[in-house]
Amino acid sequence: MAEPRVFLASRNAKKLAEMQRILAEHAPGLEVVGLDDVPAYDEPVEDAPDFVGNALLKARAGWKATGLPSVADDSGLCVDALNGMPGVLSARWSGRPKDDDRNNRLLLEQLEDVPDERRTAYFTCAVALVHGDTDDDELVVTGEMPGSVIREVRGDGGFGYDVLFVADERPGLTTAELSREDKDAISHRGRALRELGPLLAARLGAVAGTGSGTGSGAAGERA
Ligand code: IMP
Repeated sequence: MAEPRVFLASRNAKKLAEMQRILAEHAPGLEVVGLDDVPAYDEPVEDAPDFVGNALLKARAGWKATGLPSVADDSGLCVDALNGMPGVLSARWSGRPKDDDRNNRLLLEQLEDVPDERRTAYFTCAVALVHGDTDDDELVVTGEMPGSVIREVRGDGGFGYDVLFVADERPGLTTAELSREDKDAISHRGRALRELGPLLAARLGAVAGTGSGTGSGAAGERA
């Protein structure tokens, strides 16, 4: 029997790689396809006011365009001293086109006068699965990674704000200095996808014995 296929709707190659890696481990037996594997379609403008709304927008558009169960995430960095910004505006915080280095420079400037003890922040991630047109065919899981923003960029792994972020669970290292596995173990995306994995497998009938249709533990996952 062919493996159930899942569509991961993301243009961010590094984020996509993280998601594929974590899903391969926590929802084995699924064939994961990306935007390059499906015919081009009009991707939605991410104009929802929150992460959950944007993740749903992207996953619904993926489902409508491909007819495949579609997974999409929306994530960002929320800095306490900036009242939760960049938040949903993280990707283009310093304007278009999206540029991680420029975003990081702007963030450092904005926090220049903020003392170390008030540089707290957290990454957050909402991941949506949409596999039909009704509310019962949608679920959202979320994850967070608390930490703080340091004063100079460090490390060459990860992407985005990783070079400026030290997670509470890994003091002394930026998330750009962690191994991929170590970042996955504590990251907002890792947490959300580990929760999604078994739910996805159950819903798509990918794990022997779980059957098909909506999984029994799936009610109420929408955050
Ligand atoms: P999205 O593609 O709209 O979800 O934008 C997410 C943006 O948030 C990215 O472009 C990064 O700037 C930031 N971001 C989200 N997750 C991470 C992460 O794990 N590390 C570093 N930056 C992240």
